[in-house]
Amino acid sequence: FNSADARTPAETPQERPIPAVLGADLEVPVKGGRLVPYANLDYAASAPCLEPVNAAVAAALPAYSSVHRGAGYASQLTTARYEQARHTVRAFVGARPDDAVIFTRNTTDATNLLSRCLPAGTTTVVFDTEHHASLLPWERSVRLAPPAFPGAAVRAADEALAGIDGPKLLVVTAASNVTGELWPIAALAHIAHRHGARILVDAAQLVPHRRLNLTALGLDYVAFSGHKLYAPFGAGVLVGRGDWLADGEPYLKGGGAVRSVGDTAEWHDDPEPRHEAGTPNVLGAIALAAACDALNATGWTALVREEERLIARLRSGLASIEGVRELSLWGNDHPRVGIVSFTVDGHSAREVAEILSSEYGIGVRDGKFCAHPFVRHLLDGAEGGCDDPAVSAIRASIGIGTTQEHVDRLIEALRDLS
Ligand code: PLP
Repeated sequence: FNSADARTPAETPQERPIPAVLGADLEVPVKGGRLVPYANLDYAASAPCLEPVNAAVAAALPAYSSVHRGAGYASQLTTARYEQARHTVRAFVGARPDDAVIFTRNTTDATNLLSRCLPAGTTTVVFDTEHHASLLPWERSVRLAPPAFPGAAVRAADEALAGIDGPKLLVVTAASNVTGELWPIAALAHIAHRHGARILVDAAQLVPHRRLNLTALGLDYVAFSGHKLYAPFGAGVLVGRGDWLADGEPYLKGGGAVRSVGDTAEWHDDPEPRHEAGTPNVLGAIALAAACDALNATGWTALVREEERLIARLRSGLASIEGVRELSLWGNDHPRVGIVSFTVDGHSAREVAEILSSEYGIGVRDGKFCAHPFVRHLLDGAEGGCDDPAVSAIRASIGIGTTQEHVDRLIEALRDLS
């Protein structure tokens, strides 16, 4: 963090050293054929690419060649850039020196990779508030009801872990993709370790908004996706303790994961080559690492301060409109990242999202956000299938590139609607 950032007035975004996002000048058609500037309020799904990420990918392309295999200069350069990306990600999450950093396709791929490497008989404890990527991969799991307050989450995990014999893993999100609420991950890590369990933190929605230090928080594993962190699609990571990963079956079987092949295959023991068979997504890794670098270089204090200003404006705007209800597990005052979900009385979520897009040029997400049990819980346990419009909400999520005008446009549009 560069202290100069903190002195930059948040009210003058163009003067901040926060990098620009691509597509900030995108115009979209609305009813009547008019073009309006796009208000992207869907960062939690996929965030736009940062300029420095674009530049890093462009710089890597001219020396684009095979990784880990070629003796040629371009291969060496590409390999060095790929391994540098691993190093950058390690530093970005404050990993321990001996932690593995495995590039995956996304967060879902990372949680699934870990699920295949759990010691035999491992029981996973997971809250029903999780995104499906963290809720579903586990062969044997104990599912906990959404806790009424943060301390109840710690107590529920404590009780559940105490009742389990054998290897155990607690899986929890750091920031909810539905409500944006921050979870007490340090306390949960402490409880997990007291019971001899490990903890995996789904950081997909945290890392674009807050600094994460795996070592300081005592986490065993973290997973996140590049495309939510201002890099393009296709690369994510699993970072954490190497032993289970070194013992687990190679995630993919093929070249790169294997040391030698005769009648049988002799697999690498090191987790990175073991689970990265085939030609990896080198550009995805470089892009993801460039996003990590860009966020760190900008300074988290400036990023968080601007986000908090905009999200407070958004939430107070929503609260001022009759019939608009924000979804929240732990109440108004609980800290959260720039994600807000809500319903509008008398309108289905789909209808609202379509009107926002077609009449106002605003992009939001509607549905259950791949967190069906949680959204059902927040909507008073309403029953209904995935496509039941009664069981869904609208989500507005912000990030670098969000302006006050975007937020105000959403509030005005909802006021018109309600
Ligand atoms: N975890 C959380 C909290 C998420 O919000 C998401 C994506 O929405 C995921 C996991 C899955 O990410 P991906 O689709 O990149 O695998």
